[in-house]
Order: sequence, then C-alpha cells, then structure tokens
Amino acid sequence: MRKLIAGNWKMNGTAADLGELRTLAQQHPDPSVDIVICGPATLLSRMAETGLMIGGEDCHPAASGAHTGDISAPMLADAGASHVITGHSERRSDHGEDDALIAAKTQAAWAADLHVILCIGESEAQYRAGKTLDVLRRQLDHSVPDGATAATTTIAYEPIWAIGTGLTPTPQEIADVHSALRAHLTARFGEDGAQMRLLYGGSVKASNAADIFALDHVDGALVGGASLKAADFSPIITALE
Ligand code: PEP
Repeated sequence: MRKLIAGNWKMNGTAADLGELRTLAQQHPDPSVDIVICGPATLLSRMAETGLMIGGEDCHPAASGAHTGDISAPMLADAGASHVITGHSERRSDHGEDDALIAAKTQAAWAADLHVILCIGESEAQYRAGKTLDVLRRQLDHSVPDGATAATTTIAYEPIWAIGTGLTPTPQEIADVHSALRAHLTARFGEDGAQMRLLYGGSVKASNAADIFALDHVDGALVGGASLKAADFSPIITALE
C-alpha cells in the first residue's frame, strides 16, 4: 500500500488560494506517495482541475434528499473527489457526531466509491487519565463498519489536544498508539487490517514530519494548518517520499 499524505483545509479557502495547489502539483508532478487535498465543497471541482487528488471533509449518510445545507458522497464524487474525511474531531464536537453516524457516513462514502479517511482521537482529559487506548479502540469498534478494507479505508489517529495547538505526543507515544491500533485492526480485519494505512495527525509540520514518518506503522499524515500553503506542505510531502 502506498503511503498517503492528506491536507485538510477545513473552513478555509477561496478561489484566490487555488494557486497554492497549482504550485504543489508542479512541485510534486510524479509523487511516490498518494497526495490528497480535502477542501471545502465550494472549491472541490476547481481544486480537481489542478490534477491533484481531492477529498471532501464530510458527507451525509444519505445519497440525496431533504437535508438543507448538507453534501452527499455522490455529490462529492461528482465534483471530482476521490476521498472523504469522516469522524474528524471538529465534526464530532461542532456537530455532535457520534460513532454510529460516522459509521453510516463511511458506508455512504464507500457506496459512492470514495476512499474514507476516518479520524479517531482522544481528548486531553482522556489522555491525562491514561484512557487513550480504551477510547481509540472503542472508536474503532463503533465507527469503522464491518467490511472495511485497506483499499477503501484509511485510519487517521488525531489526538484532539494536538490539533492546531503546536503540541504533539512524543514519538514513543505515537509509535505505541499506532502499534496498538495495528494489532486491533488486524485482529478484526485480518490481512486488510494489517495493510490499512494509519495516518498521524495533529500539528505535523516540516520540522517534526521526518521523525514522525520514521515510526513503525505510521503510513502518512493528515495535515491541517500546514497544508494551506505549498511552501509549508511541500517539505512535509518530501519527508514522506
Ligand atoms: C486536522 O485538523 O486534521 C489537523 C491535523 O490539524 P493541524 O495539522 O492544524 O493540527
């Protein structure tokens, strides 16, 4: 399985920012890793014109219907997306999304032939209480549907307290978590669990990327703030290549 690096633009980006992606595409014309930019729905079709792989940041569990303001997985695919994020902690906290809803969204994405980047992560309080692995195993059990394969699904471990804060777990902590996630996924999904890509996310930047990518069972990263500018994101991609 190729490594994967995904950017998450969150609620950022207008047409004026598309030049960053054109620059990125020029800097990495024939990448040895999968590069995906997950962006706001308003920009997806124009982002896709850069030739980079594009993803949505969320999708509705239904394919269509009376859900004002929501975007379905087939609509993302129609706009040129090949990937979608589900279960990001900002969706879990801002919109009260629970594991069952995230599982339904994930199945909807698979039905639309989108590759899912499914996020899990513990809060600072859970981390401090030593509950990280319990929380992550529970999230995996309830938000990753049966039938997940390495071809359809990537798991992103994102400690909530590391997102946008400049804080990260120690390399040893990341290695321990990823190794536990690998064991848990392999026990449930067999060879697919052994091959499923595991991304780390949370304050990844050029200065820490190489150390994180050197760890066992880290198959790439989900990058928020540092994915907005080609000058910040490109060296992180290079560190993974
Ligand atoms: C994210 O939101 O997925 C993320 C990892 O953000 P940042 O890189 O800004 O911490």
